[in-house]
Amino acid sequence: MKNVKLFLPLVPILLLIFSIPLYADEIGKGVKVTFLGHSAFKIVSPKDVVIYIDPYLSKNPKTPAEMKNVEKADLILVTHGHMDHMGDTLAIAEKTNAKIVVIPELGKYLNKKGAKNVAGMNKGGTLTSHGIAITMVHALHSSSVTEGDQDIYAGDPAGFIIRFESSCHLEISNE
Ligand SMILES: [Zn+2]
Repeated sequence: MKNVKLFLPLVPILLLIFSIPLYADEIGKGVKVTFLGHSAFKIVSPKDVVIYIDPYLSKNPKTPAEMKNVEKADLILVTHGHMDHMGDTLAIAEKTNAKIVVIPELGKYLNKKGAKNVAGMNKGGTLTSHGIAITMVHALHSSSVTEGDQDIYAGDPAGFIIRFESSCHLEISNE
């Protein structure tokens, strides 16, 4: 949402518990992170679980062309409903049957749009899927889905703490 961008810089913060370089391919303990532009990331866990964060890819001018087509995804984590974060979530989930992890209100919206594998969760909760523990945490931002001139309520924005099989932790806070 352009008007939001004017007031809140879109700064993806990738805070690693271990002192590992930002945007490195291999961040440690077998976790691979690929920055896909804007706030989108692909993460591959030590046991090859493929996680997309805020997959704004097809219309993202900063996503490398070879990364726009997603063949495999197990989990999609979406921080909030703005299109430059929710992006291709529905299309990727339909193609791969990836589980979409979101706050419940955004989950309801995605269900209405045809998503079948949505795990709604709330802040403070932890969901474990594919051996990956995902905790939803608070984030300071706004969240809605814009359709035409309508802004549809999409719950609170959220961040995530991801705990991988190798005990590596990653905190995501995309605004
Ligand atoms: Zn936003």
